Amino acid sequence: MHIAILGAGAMGSLFGGLLAEAGHRVTLLDVDEAHLRAINENGLQLATDAGERIVTNLAAMRPEAATQPADLLIVFTKTLHTQAALGAARTVLAPQTALLSLQNGLGNAERLAQFADPARVMIGVTTWPADKNGPGRVSSHGTGVIRLMSADGAGSPMLSRTVEALNEAGLACTADADVWAAIWEKVAFNAALNSLCAVAGCTVGELTNVADGEALALKIVVEVAAVAHAHGVAVNESHIADNVRHALAHHRVHRPSMLQDVLAGRKTEIEAINGAVVEAARLRAIAVPHTETLLHLVRLIDAKESR
Ligand code: NAD
Repeated sequence: MHIAILGAGAMGSLFGGLLAEAGHRVTLLDVDEAHLRAINENGLQLATDAGERIVTNLAAMRPEAATQPADLLIVFTKTLHTQAALGAARTVLAPQTALLSLQNGLGNAERLAQFADPARVMIGVTTWPADKNGPGRVSSHGTGVIRLMSADGAGSPMLSRTVEALNEAGLACTADADVWAAIWEKVAFNAALNSLCAVAGCTVGELTNVADGEALALKIVVEVAAVAHAHGVAVNESHIADNVRHALAHHRVHRPSMLQDVLAGRKTEIEAINGAVVEAARLRAIAVPHTETLLHLVRLIDAKESR
């Protein structure tokens, strides 16, 4: 398969590197010139539990420089950059190109469907972690899984081929028609911990430094779960709450990506997380005061002129 990765940061480079190692033809598409130059000059330096190595059998370029249509395009920009990236990557998108988003947040299928036949759009969720450690260098330690489905819920040869390719790369992928629940559960977890840490400027564990920190995070979980249920998505609220409590106790020094974005002066993914939940709540006339207040606070941070 010719697999293009649109947004070759931490996750995109990890997936691209592993797919190239599995023998697929991979093109990384990104706008970070230093990262592209490093990969083209020295290869992609990949550090995983399997060891450190340099992947050289892949191409890296800006989206508008790509000339070959892809069989599969995996979108791994941050959600706020999806449309700009797809708009610049039109040459890669042929009528037969399948599109996959494993980005966090809600609305990913709709954003991809603006650029392709909705029947060719797949969405899912992944628990693989990745970090970008500098130009041309990414790492991922621990394990993860991928669950994905066609956005229209149908099975297809395209879906089977994609699952197969990701499994060949060792990424533990399954087709799962229940993926909406997993997507919403991750949104609930991120709406709670990401937005709170971004606003407070604290690590996950530091949320428990005040008596009501955990309670506040769990109130957001309750709100998001209520919205998911109102939209017919059977999330497991106590499972999400357990995950939040586990993170508060065991991932104490973790800085969620939204906090990392704030600290680096980048805009956050708040609109695809709290923003999308507030919009979905409005459609069902559900009050989500904590989720909504955090949305407005993070929007204020994103809009600061001093950043
Ligand atoms: P990242 O910031 O490391 O990578 C995003 C990349 O997109 C960057 O290299 C950036 O230069 C590129 N980009 C920005 N605008 C672009 C454009 N117009 N065209 C092409 N490329 C463009 O982000 P990440 O951590 O890899 O996360 C990507 C997505 O995956 C996010 O939605 C995130 O929430 C989700 N996710 C991340 C992790 C993780 O551990 N990092 C885990 C699961 C899901």
